[in-house]
Amino acid sequence: MLSEYDTAWHELNARLRTIEVGGGGLHGALTALKRHQQRTGFIKDALDDVERYTLYHPQDSSRFFRAQYNPKRALRFNGNGIAPAPVGFMVHNEGCFLCRDNIRWQQRGVQMGYEVRVGETGYYAWMNPFPLLPTHIVVATQAHASQEWGFELEAPDGAASFLVDLVALAAQMPGYVGFYNGVGAGASIPGHLHFHFCQRPQDDPEFPLERAGGAFEEPGEGAGILTRYPVAVAIWRGSPKQVVAAVSAWMARWRHRNRMRLDNLTGNFIVSMDGPGDRISLYFIPRDRGNAIGRGMQGLVGGLELLGEVVFSDPKDQELLENGAIDYFALEGYLARVHTPMFPS
Ligand SMILES: [Zn+2]
Repeated sequence: MLSEYDTAWHELNARLRTIEVGGGGLHGALTALKRHQQRTGFIKDALDDVERYTLYHPQDSSRFFRAQYNPKRALRFNGNGIAPAPVGFMVHNEGCFLCRDNIRWQQRGVQMGYEVRVGETGYYAWMNPFPLLPTHIVVATQAHASQEWGFELEAPDGAASFLVDLVALAAQMPGYVGFYNGVGAGASIPGHLHFHFCQRPQDDPEFPLERAGGAFEEPGEGAGILTRYPVAVAIWRGSPKQVVAAVSAWMARWRHRNRMRLDNLTGNFIVSMDGPGDRISLYFIPRDRGNAIGRGMQGLVGGLELLGEVVFSDPKDQELLENGAIDYFALEGYLARVHTPMFPS
């Protein structure tokens, strides 16, 4: 006999599947999941308190960063009311927060996900209880598998890598940005493979990194290297297939040139389907493992920060944003602290 949780899960998943295949697409299903998770109280924040600031370079209005003041984000470190394991429930993988068998008791049956299959791999889409942008989803593998990737994009057995899945998901989610934060590069749960997807904010859909990389056009096999940005960025644009092929070939060379320092490196991928013509944009930012939290910073630097939107949750920082003490150059310096050169000098 199915438990109450499993019955509710299957009913919800059947309803969401009907929305997805009935023309709503993945976005339609995820929007319905979001509404469900707001009703059950799992999503703690409707982003009503969020203020966003666009900070322009004083001489060049094409250059900007964004700051987000999001006071509820400070609450996420309070454990989000994780329940202890009740009698009769097994703790799996040391209580990993992304294993479904743990989530059902940790969140007292309130958190539900949507089953998404990408190629050979099963994923669950979970809503983030403290979102950074309108619809903030964590897509995690159904199996407990490490977030480490060892800079390998072509598996020896020909199996698709996580990046193929990340790009395939992005291709189904226009209007979203997706990111993968490597271990030591902002990954909050390094033990379990996961991606973030966030819906673009309606008022400011373009992120500073995208503006900075806008003029670049993909020249085939190579990558575009962005120089006018505080961190080193490689960019690819094209169809999902073209992008995956180009980044895989490029990454093999990158890995070789960086072989002497590879153990110290990690990285972030950012992806979106931003059209026209079903075109994927993929960004890779190399990172130094020892420098996930930039010196003098309070938060982890992950995909959203690298897109140029830095999140603050301390009221003191809001004051500094209001009075202009945190400006374009402050955020440029903030990001520059995690700069890692693309190649060894
Ligand atoms: Zn897990």
